[in-house]
Amino acid sequence: MTNLIGCLSQSPPYLRLVAYFADLTPYAYSHFDHDTVRLEWGRLHYRPRYERLNVGWLDASQPFGTGPVPDGFASALLDVIGNPTVNETRGLHDCEFCPPDANVIADPRPDRRPWLAFREIRLPARPGVMFAAPALIWHYVSAHAYRPPAEFVEAVQRYDADWATEPSPWIPPDAERKVRNRTPMNMMIPCGSCGRMFELHFTPVGTERSAPSLASEQLIQQCPDHDGKEWGFWDKVR
Ligand SMILES: [Zn+2]
Ligand SMILES: [Zn+2]
Repeated sequence: MTNLIGCLSQSPPYLRLVAYFADLTPYAYSHFDHDTVRLEWGRLHYRPRYERLNVGWLDASQPFGTGPVPDGFASALLDVIGNPTVNETRGLHDCEFCPPDANVIADPRPDRRPWLAFREIRLPARPGVMFAAPALIWHYVSAHAYRPPAEFVEAVQRYDADWATEPSPWIPPDAERKVRNRTPMNMMIPCGSCGRMFELHFTPVGTERSAPSLASEQLIQQCPDHDGKEWGFWDKVR
């Protein structure tokens, strides 16, 4: 855990987004007018036609509602996380209510990607409206007695993960489809050793290797002082 925190503290600033949004306000990551949904075959990337309402974007500087939630609510909420995963790596949402050395919160399910902090969820609220929450909301409910708005609690209880399976009224026809291991990608990545930015290009056809592992390989080729070690972090979160 110490190594991971150390690694995060050296990460580029875009990884660490501190965000507070009051419950039921319009989703306000103004730079991000798209949602990206990870599915079995790859990713859907689209500008939502649905309205997004914030829930669970807590901050230590702001009071939040607490109180009892229905039996089984926390575990039903946990079932939403990753089913499907939305907006991975948009930002690190760490828990401001836990001690600083414990602030990367793990997913308790052994078969899941370990960290909650990099993901969001979407829950159909009513036609044309989705709740938009950080995955960390499960931790706020289970560890800090956060009680989300009643409409959100109801939406969790009737959640159907098939909202992202096309054809779906939630997925617009112009959604981009990035098929895993097929769609070429370009990305700018800072070298963890020297801080210079490198443009990496992936055409990962026919490989099971993850994008971070390919990135690491390309970075080692381009930067003589790069030892590749810091990419171990990405292998953990991806
Ligand atoms: Zn906490
Ligand atoms: Zn370098």
